Amino acid sequence: MHYQCQRCGACCQWPGQVRVTEAEITALSHFLKMDENAFIQKYTRLRMDRQGLALVDQDSGACVFYQANGCLVNPVKPQQCIDFPDHWNFPGFEKICKAKPIVDRAA
Ligand code: SF4
Ligand code: SF4
Repeated sequence: MHYQCQRCGACCQWPGQVRVTEAEITALSHFLKMDENAFIQKYTRLRMDRQGLALVDQDSGACVFYQANGCLVNPVKPQQCIDFPDHWNFPGFEKICKAKPIVDRAA
């Protein structure tokens, strides 16, 4: 089974941290036509486990790249964003995520 995202934007707005790897920082900064160091200064913070970087939040708690019409960096969004909810989720996520469960059928 997998989930078909309905682009409700809830996962971009709830509290938490969006981890970013060095490769993702490179891709994001190129996409935004920014110098990598400037990107890191403006858009990242130390992860809670201090093992790397995460995106900063807006005052509302939403991801810094979330806009009313969706993700500003959608073509290069981090793997963590791509993987939800198919490859990681949490108990009860269906209460806030509108993704539709799709039953995979064998060919
Ligand atoms: S990077 Fe884009 S998809 Fe990921 S949480 Fe932020 S707004 Fe959402
Ligand atoms: S909360 Fe679920 S349905 Fe809504 S944008 Fe995120 S993955 Fe898609």
